Amino acid sequence: MSQKWVYMFKEGDPKNKNLLGGKGANLADMTQLGLPIPQGFIVTTEACTGYYDNGKKLTEEMEGQIRASLAELEALSGKKFGDNENPLLVSVRSGARVSMPGMMDTVLNLGLTDAAVEGLAKKTDNPRFAYDSYRRFIQMFSDVVMEIPKPRFEKIIDELKEEKGVKLDTDLTADDLKEMIVRYKALYKQEKGEEFPQDPELQLMESIKAVFRSWMNPRAIVYRRMHDYPASWGTAVNVQMMVFGNMGDTSGTGVAFTRNPSTGENKIYGEYLINAQGEDVVAGIRTPNPISQLAEDMPEVYAEFERIYTKLENHYCDMQDMEFTVEDKKLYFLQTRNGKRTAAAALKIAVDLVAEGKLTEEQAVLRVDPKQLDQLLHPMFDPKALKAAKVIGSALPASPGAAAGKVYFTAEDAKNAAAAGERVILVRLETSPEDIEGMAAAKGILTVRGGMTSHAAVVARGMGTCCVSGCGEVKINEEAKTFELAGTVYKEGDYISLDGSTGNIYGEDVATIEPEITGDFETLMVWADKVRTLKVRTNADTPKDAANAVRFGAEGIGLCRTEHMFFEEDRIMKVRKMIVAKEEAERRAALLELLPFQKQDFVGIYEAMESRPVTIRLLDPPLHEFLPHSDEDIAELAKAMGISFEELKATVESLHEFNPMMGHRGCRLAVSYPEIAEMQARAIIEAAIQVKKEKGFAIVPEIMIPLVGEKKELQFVKDIVVKTADAAIKEAGIELEYHVGTMIEIPRAALTADAIAEDAEFFSFGTNDLTQMTFGFSRDDAGKFLEDYYSKEIYEVDPFARLDQTGVGQLIQIAAEKGRKTRPDIKLGICGEHGGDPSSIEFCHKVGLNYVSCSPFRVPIARLAAAQSAIKNK
Ligand code: PEP
Ligand code: MG
Repeated sequence: MSQKWVYMFKEGDPKNKNLLGGKGANLADMTQLGLPIPQGFIVTTEACTGYYDNGKKLTEEMEGQIRASLAELEALSGKKFGDNENPLLVSVRSGARVSMPGMMDTVLNLGLTDAAVEGLAKKTDNPRFAYDSYRRFIQMFSDVVMEIPKPRFEKIIDELKEEKGVKLDTDLTADDLKEMIVRYKALYKQEKGEEFPQDPELQLMESIKAVFRSWMNPRAIVYRRMHDYPASWGTAVNVQMMVFGNMGDTSGTGVAFTRNPSTGENKIYGEYLINAQGEDVVAGIRTPNPISQLAEDMPEVYAEFERIYTKLENHYCDMQDMEFTVEDKKLYFLQTRNGKRTAAAALKIAVDLVAEGKLTEEQAVLRVDPKQLDQLLHPMFDPKALKAAKVIGSALPASPGAAAGKVYFTAEDAKNAAAAGERVILVRLETSPEDIEGMAAAKGILTVRGGMTSHAAVVARGMGTCCVSGCGEVKINEEAKTFELAGTVYKEGDYISLDGSTGNIYGEDVATIEPEITGDFETLMVWADKVRTLKVRTNADTPKDAANAVRFGAEGIGLCRTEHMFFEEDRIMKVRKMIVAKEEAERRAALLELLPFQKQDFVGIYEAMESRPVTIRLLDPPLHEFLPHSDEDIAELAKAMGISFEELKATVESLHEFNPMMGHRGCRLAVSYPEIAEMQARAIIEAAIQVKKEKGFAIVPEIMIPLVGEKKELQFVKDIVVKTADAAIKEAGIELEYHVGTMIEIPRAALTADAIAEDAEFFSFGTNDLTQMTFGFSRDDAGKFLEDYYSKEIYEVDPFARLDQTGVGQLIQIAAEKGRKTRPDIKLGICGEHGGDPSSIEFCHKVGLNYVSCSPFRVPIARLAAAQSAIKNK
């Protein structure tokens, strides 16, 4: 059965962006609205996927339809492809269902041949323009389609200018350009072993294929990964009749936005150039004029321009980004699309459009990309300073924001320098829990190893500190306190800057500015909160983080990781004593010393959260993470404990594990040392009692047992928790409700969730571990090889950043269903990093979880994403 692969602009369905691409659908729309659009046709996104399925070839049916549409375009334009009197020239441009500016390829002036160029010269009476167009086409076709490097052509231009003794391209005469064409064609023949193609149809078919190929170029792949667009969408190709802005002083070309894309101000914003083609505006060879100048240069054209852009904005009810060309005083629109904008502009435009009566509140909520809100929640680089700065390297954008400061190599040095008032960038091979204070003191963190859920990344995101991780090119010399990158050695105290949103590293002090949270931000959040059904909690381990999260709208704590509390200076010694204790009594004594500290931690957190729910997780990481590693630290601890250096060193070594992530951690610690769980349960309950008594807050602690894989191990730990908690409550003589639940982060727990739910009152999906254990690769090491998986098209995205709905998601779904079967009112949440990722949040909404929990700085993002999920899935 035949399929329709090609649509004329006048016949395409403007609503079908998936088939026609965004640009194609809008061109069809504008044509059907009767606007002045150079006509053309669209080769569909299905043809793109078909091209790939067909071994990167166009089928005969596709080629046949392209030929037929071309004939129709010739009839519409009254021109003929390749004609030596009145040739039809076209542009060939990409157009995916969403715009991906600059990611894919374009060919302009297609259809020029040795014969057609003469026709164009005669017809326009402008030979210079005709030859200039031909030489541009040869250059573009050779580069985009035939992959002959551009600099080889630029060299020819330079040589010719030198021979002719001129400085500017525009000083070359028609004859000079004719000579340039001869040289270009010679280069083409030398590179390709054949003449430059004189068959316009072949030029066209090859260019369409090149645009399809560009869907898979590396920058398009990276762009899609950043924006969660799947490769399966494909791109459409738009073949559009050329109009010429470079035909003299009554012609021109420009780009305009109906509102200001940086601020959102409701005022036309644009630039144009007289006597130029589109690429000249973009390439920045000449400085364009502000759009207001057009009103003076060509008032009638401007009046028409104003009429059309107003119509377009009202039609799409969104800020438009438009390209236009004036050919001898006649205005054409070449394309329109919803314009890209900063987060601040996105908020202002959405809120303004509601005030103008053009959008409903819910439609406005859908207009802002949740991920973009990040820009408003962290310090940013001053755009001017950033322009002048040089990128010296780049790695994973692990925690957003911008930071500039002096380099320090140990947590201790970082802490001291920050205490002395320095802005600090901590540079480490990788971070460990011991570095926590240095990390907290730093403005930014750079690590050589580690992925998006490595320790550095998770902790930095939690703190809202900028972090760039996994920069393998950095060579650290810890002894000398230096690192080398891009051929330069940076010493302790030298300035660098990090962009945690792009992963870029700069070898200098780039100025930063504090973000502004405007009233529009708040307005949109209120609208979002009205529609969402998912609650949003936060992952917070300190009263400061908790208070921050509440400011951003957190409705509770979904994960308080108690281990982070153990690293503070006043308690690490006690923790270490507890770990190396040989006897239970000795361990209990050390734990008793820790109890007041732990209790105080929880008091602070409960107070910050007032009466909101708080989930506290029992100790999770392998114990050896807390131990001293250097001989110096071991000696200090041995002295404090009154044991020999050798004895302590042997204990430390005995705790070494080959695979600590799958070793003695999580609830396994409480199985071996029940007294740890006992102390923590007691601190959690006693703190709640105290806050209830003193402040009157109705605290209902949720005690969470990590890394459970078997019902009996949960039962074992739960028994200890319940006994301890009940005793503490009884002793206080006060009523206190509390719950005991578990994390689901081991595949076996998900598969046996019905049994586990008999003992667990709630589940929280720990999707960091669940992803790690389902894929069987380490969250700290995957960053190293995932790049190979992206470039080889095995994975499109990092499964630690965006939930793998097919595999890991299936486990979540199974666990949710089984859990609800046993306990219909079981509370379900997610506290892995995915809890702050918009597409993963939509999945959580669909599965019917009660809440998502994410780092404080992602709370507004999660609120908006949850609202969008509710609206989209109504
Ligand atoms: C998880 O595994 O998803 C989780 C939240 O716990 P952690 O990252 O502390 O292992
Ligand atoms: Mg975990």
